[in-house]
Amino acid sequence: MSTFDYSVFWKETIKQIKDEFEKNGDSSDFFMWFEPISYISSSQNKITASVPSGFFSDQLKTRGYLALLQSKISELSGQDITIDFTISKSPITNKKDSSSVSDKKSEKTVSVNKTTEVHHPLLKEEYTFDKFVKGDNNSFAYNAALAISKNPGKAYNPVLIYGGVGLGKTHLMQAIGNEIFSKSNGKSKIIYITAENFTNEFIQSISGNKMTEFKNKYRKADILLIDDIHFFKSKDGTQEELFHTFDALYNSNKQLVFTCDRPLAEIKNISDRLRSRFERGLNVDLAPPDFETRQAILEKKLEGKSVRIPKDVLQLIARNVSSNVRDLEASLTKLIAYSELVGKEITLEIAQQQLKDTFGSPKQGNISIETIQKVVAEHYSISFVDLKGKKRTKNIVFPRQLSMYITKELTEYSTTEIGAEFGGRDHTTVMHSIEKIEEDIKADPSLKQIMETLKRKIYDFKKQ
Ligand code: ADP
Ligand code: MG
Repeated sequence: MSTFDYSVFWKETIKQIKDEFEKNGDSSDFFMWFEPISYISSSQNKITASVPSGFFSDQLKTRGYLALLQSKISELSGQDITIDFTISKSPITNKKDSSSVSDKKSEKTVSVNKTTEVHHPLLKEEYTFDKFVKGDNNSFAYNAALAISKNPGKAYNPVLIYGGVGLGKTHLMQAIGNEIFSKSNGKSKIIYITAENFTNEFIQSISGNKMTEFKNKYRKADILLIDDIHFFKSKDGTQEELFHTFDALYNSNKQLVFTCDRPLAEIKNISDRLRSRFERGLNVDLAPPDFETRQAILEKKLEGKSVRIPKDVLQLIARNVSSNVRDLEASLTKLIAYSELVGKEITLEIAQQQLKDTFGSPKQGNISIETIQKVVAEHYSISFVDLKGKKRTKNIVFPRQLSMYITKELTEYSTTEIGAEFGGRDHTTVMHSIEKIEEDIKADPSLKQIMETLKRKIYDFKKQ
């Protein structure tokens, strides 16, 4: 997160406020009060923005809009940010990379031009924004992806979407491609390729003396989408080529999007200069969806299908398959197939029975508290017994509180149950620990990264 400047969060804040106002039918208020604000600069925990007059700035305060801006941007950035206004008599014309909002007209033209018939051969037709469920786990990535598709090469460039297996990276990336392709009536040159295939093509082009063709193909792209860049680890020649392709495209304002199964910092063997390119733009993560989002995803996957699956069955799946949307989908597919082949309505009993292997497999079932405790203890080089025990030395208390926090987040256990697993502590202690970690995260956003690393280790632990 350290490479972000606040302008990125500013844009996102304005966009979310705009969406909210529009949803409430208050678009004119939005244009009256937010459109004239221009982002100027930022320093630590502070943003300076310009407004047309002192009256305007007073109004922003009394109407609660300053508070709204501050709380939204603090929430998005994970830092406490205050906003200072300066008065600018002449309107600031930084429209190009502007913080303020894209204008209505262009959006309208786009939707008029939109045709549904064009389809890109390299992209999955169903990987669209429409079919992607937005939840707390992915809303930042979703909004960034949507912004890119509205304003390719300008909104955020490059963008790296990272997150664990089956959390929707490929879906979101291709949604960008599909949206731009259909809006441009198929005119936009979009290349989607996995890092693995990029590498293979590159190697073949060398052996077949086709380097020029290879270079031309990629450097002519309007939008380059490269999936799973963790595959590039120590493929030196390919990295070198990608570096040059990157610069060529970036310098002519072409959009670059990458995905990766972990944060960049955790990829070893990637050249410094390529890493600095990936880091240049926006890095957004996809986390595992919570219970409600998992349910919504299942409902979305059922849309348009003739099979009816009762709500309690969907909830059963959502409760038992938590770490991976692909597995969630696979459970549903299995039930649909069963229902079609056997000609029976799916009941809770049938679902339990059909999915018992999925639910029971160590990869799927609910994560155990013990796994969390073991992973955290190992990460902080303390003993598992101490982590669960009564000792109150500082080096143990923090990992213990962190474990409780993660347990609350990743499992369905109540605070009472969690307390019982941590040396028989009572539920208020657990609640206090969770609040404490929430505050720590606010004070030190890098803790979020540590938490992501731990969660990944926890999921990996389950697969062993
Ligand atoms: P990844 O590339 O991160 O491994 P994918 O993009 O291949 O994951 O997603 C796996 C499956 O889960 C796809 O079928 C995708 O449509 C689905 N999926 C993931 N997240 C969502 C979501 N938020 N809403 C709807 N479908 C999702
Ligand atoms: Mg993928």
